[in-house]
Amino acid sequence: MNILVTGGAGYVGSHVVEELLKTGKHRVVVLDNLQKGHRDALLGGEFVEGDLADEKLLDKIFTEHSIEAVVHMAADSLVGESVQRPDKYFRNNVTNGLNLLDAMVRNKAKYIVFSSTAAVYGEPIRTPITEDHPQTPTNPYGESKLFFERAMARYDHAYGLRHISLRYFNAAGASPSGAIGEDHRPESHLIPIVLQVALGQRAQVTIFGTDYDTPDGTCIRDYVHVTDLAAAHLLALDALAEGAGSNVYNLGNGEGFSVREVIDMVERIVGKPLPRVEGERRAGDPAVLVASSEWITKELGWRPQYDDLETIVRTAWNWHKQHPQGFGS
Ligand code: UDP
Repeated sequence: MNILVTGGAGYVGSHVVEELLKTGKHRVVVLDNLQKGHRDALLGGEFVEGDLADEKLLDKIFTEHSIEAVVHMAADSLVGESVQRPDKYFRNNVTNGLNLLDAMVRNKAKYIVFSSTAAVYGEPIRTPITEDHPQTPTNPYGESKLFFERAMARYDHAYGLRHISLRYFNAAGASPSGAIGEDHRPESHLIPIVLQVALGQRAQVTIFGTDYDTPDGTCIRDYVHVTDLAAAHLLALDALAEGAGSNVYNLGNGEGFSVREVIDMVERIVGKPLPRVEGERRAGDPAVLVASSEWITKELGWRPQYDDLETIVRTAWNWHKQHPQGFGS
């Protein structure tokens, strides 16, 4: 299949590209504006530097490469920033995303796999969260992703554009190949931050809130290995190619770990204690986010290969140790 991967130079995107290339059966074209992605994170495929705002460029890519399917991961994805800059999130994630859907319709591309998020659920009223849990996002990031899911459903009805949305819980870890990993600038995610403390690049990690209604008072999250996430995109593409209808699936391991448990695990793996301080809650953080991924397990046969926190942290540490300055080092 000829596949366009938007945001393919980003963290999850580059791991999706790695898995697509491994199959040997796809031609991969990556579109990324490199605002957050890294050219060095791309292990192959054809690269186009550009933006979804550029409709002419989109038409050129679709026609020149006879694109049949899209994996759409280009987006802004920080909850806190989305509260400060809703304009940026609605423009990039919604307006520019609609440019992509329109280009697909114009150029008769048939399927899209969309990178969605647990943030579409808002504060959970029951856990583990199933896909039919009420969707009441509490920030513009979650709203922008939910809007796009709904737009795709309408485009399916009107134009026959089939889609699968994958709602990621906490993407973590690095490729077991050791070739690519997580490099956000600035870094805001828990595991890479603790690894930067281990590397002596930060003095300490701050725990955001210790008064949550959880056993140790810190937030609980469902960490899912980025290569397992990537594998789900390939299953979704195959299902759509075989005629599956539009759908939405959660991606998580169904097991939650507290912030303290994650820091403890990193300490065990790096083999030394790491300075931690207790801080205020971070705005917009629900206490517990744990997925039920039964639907995708049953319907697409998704089976995570790296589903324990120890392996997730070990693969991340392996990459960070080898690339202390991230990509470009
Ligand atoms: N967290 C923390 N300190 C940090 C970064 C994150 O305590 O320096 C917490 C955060 O409040 C959340 C969990 O770690 O409960 C995971 O946060 P992350 O930013 O990695 O992912 P998110 O849940 O926002 O997708």
